[in-house]
Amino acid sequence: MSFAARLEAELEQFKQQGVYKRLNHLEGPQAARTKMEGRGEVVILSSNNYLGLCNAPDVVAAGQRALDQFGAGTGSVRFICGTFTVHRELEQALARFVGCESSLTYVSCWNANEGLVPTLLGEQDIVISDQLNHASIIDAIRLAKTITKCQTAVYRHSDMADLEEQLRGAQAKNSRLKLIFTDGVFSMEGDIAKLPDIVALARRYDAVVAVDDSHATGVLGRSGRGTAEHYGMLGQVDIITSTLGKALGGAAGGFTAGPGSLADYLTQRSRPQLFSNALPPTVAGSALAAVRHVERHPELVTRLHENARYFREQLRALGFKPLAGETPIVPVMLGETAKAIQMSELLLAEGVFVTGFGYPVVPQGHARIRCQLSAAHTRDDLDFSLAAFKDVGRKLGLI
Ligand code: PLP
Repeated sequence: MSFAARLEAELEQFKQQGVYKRLNHLEGPQAARTKMEGRGEVVILSSNNYLGLCNAPDVVAAGQRALDQFGAGTGSVRFICGTFTVHRELEQALARFVGCESSLTYVSCWNANEGLVPTLLGEQDIVISDQLNHASIIDAIRLAKTITKCQTAVYRHSDMADLEEQLRGAQAKNSRLKLIFTDGVFSMEGDIAKLPDIVALARRYDAVVAVDDSHATGVLGRSGRGTAEHYGMLGQVDIITSTLGKALGGAAGGFTAGPGSLADYLTQRSRPQLFSNALPPTVAGSALAAVRHVERHPELVTRLHENARYFREQLRALGFKPLAGETPIVPVMLGETAKAIQMSELLLAEGVFVTGFGYPVVPQGHARIRCQLSAAHTRDDLDFSLAAFKDVGRKLGLI
């Protein structure tokens, strides 16, 4: 069988198993409502555009200004051909925003995670990871293990007794650096890491804590500074990685923040910094404007949480069983992957764009529709979506 024929046969299998993902093309920007090719106007209930900044005029204008001032490209790697002042300004703003002393940007948070773990850990070190951590953390750890032969351990999701067990094991093995890595908000469940317990354990066992706050930056805490602010612990997390591609305007990009020396150390040693271009200046300009926008408008964070609370309550009133939680990620559990995909297609036919997730993104039998709320949603957008959930839920015998 030829290479192309093999790919086609596998794709056909995905279709038959009901797990094939079809891309939907949008003709307008990410917003509460947008135009989808062939569908007309739809409410987007599936986006990380938590604060509605993807299309905020000041965020877009700042990107255009940076494009005018710095041009389109970065030319090469930062230490080779120079780095733009807008990157420095953005990194200072990000560090201040998340309560750290320094930060360094990457072209994505995926890159930030992969640029962190293999850089910090060597053969005598161990990384201890939550079982439900994001794929980028898992792959960063696999990469580190391959490159540096570091030790690895996984603790059961948010199980502090198991985390302590792993730390005890690391202590017994005399591991030099013990790095605990957790998501701040777990993207598929929408639950929040038990940060106070994790930090307390880290102090007891002389470990370092890294939190991937991709779904928490701009989302958690009174002013959107993330998981640490949510728990009143700003400044107490050793390392924070996060994305610029969600609440902070939806542009690409990610960053790693930590003590004053961390950004400098990563600049010296982190391979994506040394061998890959920096963020395009227009993206850095937009992200900087987005950080300033959130600092000026904490009421967006309040509105986001009001929307999430309302949507959760109303789904429950309709008879659905969304996972309980305090974040704008509202998963409705459906079981089989094919069911989640069917529900998402029926909702789209009613003008609501929300994606069904199945295996391998979530474990077999735990497929779901993952709703994500935004401060940009009006009550009308939410009621329109809830009416569609009611119709589709009845059609599928779910309520
Ligand atoms: N980390 C977490 C927890 C995420 O949810 C995501 C995106 O889904 C990422 C990292 C990757 O972010 P980026 O799109 O910036 O690579």
